Amino acid sequence: MNVPIGVIPTILGAAVAVGCYAIFVPQSSLMCPVTWRGRRDGPPRVAITFDDGPWPAGTGPILDTLRDLACPATFFVIGANAARWPELVARMHAEGHSVGNHSYDHPHMGVFRRGRYWMDQLRRTDSAIVAAGVPRPTLFRPPIGHKTVRLAMALRATGQRAVTWSRRAADGIPTSTDRILARIVPRARAGDIIVLHDGLEPRAIARPAPRDVSPTVRAVRPMVEGLRARGLAIVPLEELIGVPVGG
Ligand SMILES: [Zn+2]
Repeated sequence: MNVPIGVIPTILGAAVAVGCYAIFVPQSSLMCPVTWRGRRDGPPRVAITFDDGPWPAGTGPILDTLRDLACPATFFVIGANAARWPELVARMHAEGHSVGNHSYDHPHMGVFRRGRYWMDQLRRTDSAIVAAGVPRPTLFRPPIGHKTVRLAMALRATGQRAVTWSRRAADGIPTSTDRILARIVPRARAGDIIVLHDGLEPRAIARPAPRDVSPTVRAVRPMVEGLRARGLAIVPLEELIGVPVGG
């Protein structure tokens, strides 16, 4: 095939754009099968998920609120945090929530890592969760939603499914309870997988003044009540996406 020289930059540009989409867009399934929402039709249901825990300042009070409201959630825990606070992981499971794998170290440069690295991240986190007395997770949430072929291969080996999200609280950075509620409550739609953050990455915990997670803690009750008032049932993530319940 003869390709005119002038077209090559366009082709390369398109290839880079597709590659970036595949890796960085949380809803993309080009690198590996990704579930990012449930059905939009059918009964109006959403699922609530929390990332980056456990972290005593966030996870504990959030579990209290969820128990008060009889609201199920899924916690995608970081392995290093789970190893440090196993009692919180045990409590998630004991109170009827699901526990998913969110990597051991929460790497930001995971796109450059090899398959062996990802196998180690998945397995060490699974081990920390199992050591807390919780079944091995079937669901994995890629840190920052980034996916690569090597991560996909590791997930095939462990038999875990990648789950991202369709609605973000954007509370992984400093924010307010009002902003969190404004992003979630009026905008949520049937089938949404909502993501908030009950914890912090290990490197953030190590800082002298870790980010205050209280805006998220305070948002949980009005968020759940607001979603229910809109007629949206909050169901376990597995039920929303139609997979068997794991840990
Ligand atoms: Zn995360």
